[in-house]
Amino acid sequence: MIRIKNISKKYILGKTEIHALRGVNLSVNEGQMICVMGPSGSGKSTMLNIIGCLDKPDSGDVFIGKYSVAGLGRNDLAALRADMIGFIFQSFNLIPVLNVYENIEFPLHIKNSGLTKKEMQRRVMRLVDEVGLNEYVKHRPDELSGGQRQRVAIARALVTNPKIILADEPTANLDSATAKSILSIMKTLNHEEKSTFIFSTHDPSIAEYSDSVCRMKDGFLLESAGR
Ligand code: ADP
Ligand code: MG
Repeated sequence: MIRIKNISKKYILGKTEIHALRGVNLSVNEGQMICVMGPSGSGKSTMLNIIGCLDKPDSGDVFIGKYSVAGLGRNDLAALRADMIGFIFQSFNLIPVLNVYENIEFPLHIKNSGLTKKEMQRRVMRLVDEVGLNEYVKHRPDELSGGQRQRVAIARALVTNPKIILADEPTANLDSATAKSILSIMKTLNHEEKSTFIFSTHDPSIAEYSDSVCRMKDGFLLESAGR
């Protein structure tokens, strides 16, 4: 499903070069749930952004399904991203003026999904139900707890039925009980939808929700252990 081949990425800050990724390889099968662990600054976000086609590596390539990302132009890349990939961020990134329903529905408008209003509604409400927010559809993000906001973000990431969901430290701003409930929602959706999940964390207690854990340190991917 996803194959990362020898990707490297450097940032230049003044006269300093920062090697964010130093030749990273990884293969992820369809339907797997992979956890990327590593301390702050180890390269987790850089790797997820490159897999999600939000950023480009200096060298190496990412293969998503049958596509080589390096071989795609801007428009094809945007289409691939809209079709295949959902993002969940550490800081939720919800739209403050939209309510829960509207936030979840939003990607369907961006994607120009071809769904009727009624089909959109059915899909949004099914996800609202799955993440347990039925009573909150009219609430705005500032009226929700952190855990509820992240559940909105999960539903929003899934509404377009992406094959791949990337979650960059999705539980970093949550207490540990809420973090576990968020991960178990992700795990359930991973089973039900057969979507592929890659999430990053530095919390070992949520790594156990994944099928396999890989560790990053100083831009290297150190090990990949099946569980
Ligand atoms: P993590 O997500 O594991 O905390 P990151 O991928 O964000 O790690 O960062 C890896 C390294 O790259 C860090 O040293 C970070 O400071 C650096 N870095 C990340 N983004 C940028 C950027 N836009 N400009 C300069 N340096 C960056
Ligand atoms: Mg990060």
